[in-house]
Amino acid sequence: MPKEKSHLCLCLDCGGQRQLLGNCRLCDSAQTPEAITETLIFNMELGYPTIEEAINKFESYLDAAYDAGFKSMIVIHGYGSSGTGGGIKQTIRRHLEGNYYIPKVNHYYFGEDLKAGSEAYEELRKARSSIKKHQSHFLGNAGTSVLLLG
Ligand SMILES: [Zn+2]
Repeated sequence: MPKEKSHLCLCLDCGGQRQLLGNCRLCDSAQTPEAITETLIFNMELGYPTIEEAINKFESYLDAAYDAGFKSMIVIHGYGSSGTGGGIKQTIRRHLEGNYYIPKVNHYYFGEDLKAGSEAYEELRKARSSIKKHQSHFLGNAGTSVLLLG
């Protein structure tokens, strides 16, 4: 389960640590925050949303993450076996394959293609060396996708 910590940013008005979305809790600044880490981990299934809710929330986070300067986003969307969870995976991947999120997402990988030693994983590590510490989330995991933000 991703922690709130992975969404931490710096407030450019008060210099405190703040959350990605909404106003700064410390100074109520509405200014775009700055990412503290390179990678945002986002769980689309959290709170059992409908497909539409999950996609809307994802798009809000993607916009904010891009503006804050995050370099990668690990999206947990589940395995797509059945029910709403399945629909979330199918929908987000259809959007990725349809290039809906260009230029914010300039490249993406499906977790099942990211196996240790695979070409895709080597390519990802070259593009985002800091991603390695988060690999337990996505390595060979068809319930996740990794997005490289432009
Ligand atoms: Zn602040």
